[in-house]
Amino acid sequence: MKVAVIGSTHAGVFAAKQIKAEMPDAEVHIYEKNQTVSFLSCGIALWIGDHVSSPDKMFYETPESLTEAGIEMHMQHEVVQADLTQKQLRINDLVNDEMATERFDKIVITTGSQAVIPNIPGIGSERVLMSKSWDDAKLLKERTATVQKVVVIGAGYIGAELAEQLSLAGKDVVLIDALERVLAKNVSPAISQQVEAAYEAHGVTLAMQQKVTGFEETQDGIRVETDKAEFEADLAILGIGFRPQTDLVANQLDTLPNGAIKTDQYMQTSVPDVYAAGDASAVFYNPTQAYDYIPLATNAIRQGMLIGKNIQTPKVAYPGTQASSAVELYELAIGTTGLTSIDNAKAKGIDADAVTITQDYRPDFMLTTTPVTVSLVWEKGSRRIIGAEFASKHDVTQSANIVSLAIENKMTIDQLAYSDFFFQPNFSQPINYLSAAALAALDK
Ligand SMILES: Cc1cc2nc3c(=O)[nH]c(=O)nc-3n(C[C@H](O)[C@H](O)[C@H](O)COP(=O)(O)OP(=O)(O)OC[C@H]3O[C@@H](n4cnc5c(N)ncnc54)[C@H](O)[C@@H]3O)c2cc1C
Repeated sequence: MKVAVIGSTHAGVFAAKQIKAEMPDAEVHIYEKNQTVSFLSCGIALWIGDHVSSPDKMFYETPESLTEAGIEMHMQHEVVQADLTQKQLRINDLVNDEMATERFDKIVITTGSQAVIPNIPGIGSERVLMSKSWDDAKLLKERTATVQKVVVIGAGYIGAELAEQLSLAGKDVVLIDALERVLAKNVSPAISQQVEAAYEAHGVTLAMQQKVTGFEETQDGIRVETDKAEFEADLAILGIGFRPQTDLVANQLDTLPNGAIKTDQYMQTSVPDVYAAGDASAVFYNPTQAYDYIPLATNAIRQGMLIGKNIQTPKVAYPGTQASSAVELYELAIGTTGLTSIDNAKAKGIDADAVTITQDYRPDFMLTTTPVTVSLVWEKGSRRIIGAEFASKHDVTQSANIVSLAIENKMTIDQLAYSDFFFQPNFSQPINYLSAAALAALDK
């Protein structure tokens, strides 16, 4: 059997390796238009801030290691046409500029995502950079090293981390977002306020509720214009989101309106023998019990592995996602899962309630302790837990994973409030902060 995999970042790499493990006799071919595989873009901001021991370690596989695993690698080969019913691909060898036609028995679409680039005047300037690929990362590392003033556009996780690392490196940073607060889609106002205070303490100019309307190159920099202000900078970095890169298979598969490919629980698309995973695909979002577009490596890896498990016979179902995530900003460790505020739930059509509590993570008889802010969000009526967030200078991020399981297993606040969590003064209070949040939910 010949299996074609298009794309070799997380979804493609995990799919190809698992397929080879399940079907050692299968011919597995990866077609990748770039020169690298398995790039961890989550390391970009950390590399810029000099927290990465070696950029080579931002890859966990190489074309050579995958070849050794028995996978046939076609690097710098772009799939330019895919006929999914005729099972045929047109492939451009980008090095020799040669086209070829290849047939397949089964195909895995892991073409990922690309940055959303709005049609704004001047956005094509060389002083407007992106943060996605290895090439973007190298350019960002090189260009940010020599400049002083940087405007970061987008205050989601990616922009927030870039703004933090650049400010810690002594740059003058402006962080712009159209929404009213930083991380507005990721956390509740209680945690946004803590993060915004930290930005201000580190000299970052916050320009919230501002839409970028244009970029204009100046003699030695770039002017970023918004609907309310203008900012002079050496560089601008755009981080406003991603869209699925699925034009190659447009109109051949069931998708969400944005082009994200829909699959069943076994990663099978609407066309037989065609599988999809990662940023190219939709996910089943457990808090809403509906398909959604949530591009995260955690989804890409699990979905990729499950293609391998299910490609012969459907047997291991994908449990969906809660979009559990974490970020550290100025020593504040933030962990989230699901919908983190009433407003975020409302935006997804769920009538929700929420509590936010703050308590020290361990007893104050200890020589040191520090507060944790916890929010718990549940659906009114069913009392099903649909989200939580945790923020502290102590690392409490793993608690988001506990609530992730609670959401996946459709637990209610009543069940969580009396769940068994340990107490030991080095680590926690007699009533753990998560139990305390659930008890506060019952009281409400
Ligand atoms: C700055 C940044 C930080 C992030 N941090 C986190 C984090 O902390 N945690 C987390 O879970 N997620 C994080 N993510 C998201 C995560 O990186 C993505 O979800 C993940 O990369 C998706 O993997 P993928 O394989 O589906 O797609 P992609 O990474 O988009 O890779 C798709 C691959 O397909 C190739 N390709 C596309 N079309 C073709 C074609 N026609 N022919 C040949 N090859 C093709 C591309 O060259 C690419 O290599 C971050 C993303 C960014 C940008």
